[in-house]
Amino acid sequence: AKSDESGVAHLYNAEMDAAMQARNALEMDLRQALSAGQFELFYQPQVEVRARWIAGCEALLRWRHPEKGLVPPDQFIPLAEDMGMIVPIGEWVLRQACATAAADWPENVRVAVNLSAVQFRCHDIIDVVSGALRDSGLEAGRLELEITETVMLQDAAMALATLHQLRELGVQVSMDDFGTGYSSLSYLRRFPFDRIKIDQSFIRDLGKQDDCISIVRAVIALGRDLGMAITAEGVETRQQLDMLENAGCTEVQGYLFNRPVSAAAATALLQSASII
Ligand code: C2E
Ligand code: CA
Ligand code: CA
Ligand code: CA
Repeated sequence: AKSDESGVAHLYNAEMDAAMQARNALEMDLRQALSAGQFELFYQPQVEVRARWIAGCEALLRWRHPEKGLVPPDQFIPLAEDMGMIVPIGEWVLRQACATAAADWPENVRVAVNLSAVQFRCHDIIDVVSGALRDSGLEAGRLELEITETVMLQDAAMALATLHQLRELGVQVSMDDFGTGYSSLSYLRRFPFDRIKIDQSFIRDLGKQDDCISIVRAVIALGRDLGMAITAEGVETRQQLDMLENAGCTEVQGYLFNRPVSAAAATALLQSASII
């Protein structure tokens, strides 16, 4: 029995070691990915429901790893947050997205950038955002920052102050992944967001689960009362689009219209067909 026990413990340790080693290797790669120029931004159109034109595009980060190929953000952003690397990476994203939109896109098209909670809580976030605007020449109103509701939970007073400062710069702020966290509808009254992005989990089950459309309708009604715009994420089918349009949703984003595409492809799309 004793050798069995030690055998099990040994196997367990070997697995732990392998996982640790993989993490350490990824961490080492991530440390130099920024200076090695391995990050790229893809862009996904956000379509205005009534007019069917592209009102904005969301910047989505990709890591072109020399051996692993294109690594999706879910696989490295949590690690980058733990390491603190998300701060310089996030600043690069912001600067790159602003520069692209200012230089290559029609003047009425917004660019949306995801801000990690770690970035949002940095003391110099206002300087970072205003620096990116100044250096790119992008009009502040064309930049939208997407933040998840989790940032409101930790230090609400600080979060509220930062939100106000961002809005004073003239940028728009949206609440991302709405409905997935712990915050309730009452958060929307307390925090001055310009837009609510309804999480794709609610959109996925539209037409399958009866309560989804009720939730979507309630969020849209509340958003409208509070003067907030509404984007539905992860719209993949015509049926979902029709239901959202009937419910009064203003913008949609999803594979039904476009997958995230390279910067060059996004520019071509915006210049040729900003009307869908
Ligand atoms: P998110 O902000 O909720 O972004 C939307 C995600 O849904 C994207 O995944 C997008 O490709 C995907 N998506 C869009 N339409 C559809 C659809 O119709 N169906 C389905 N199934 N999925 C759809 P992606 O690009 O893999 O990004 C995942 C997450 O990584 C993002 O979720 C965001 O939280 C984070 N992320 C991406 N870029 C950045 C960044 O620059 N900074 C930070 N802090 N986070 C980022
Ligand atoms: Ca987002
Ligand atoms: Ca989202
Ligand atoms: Ca998400």
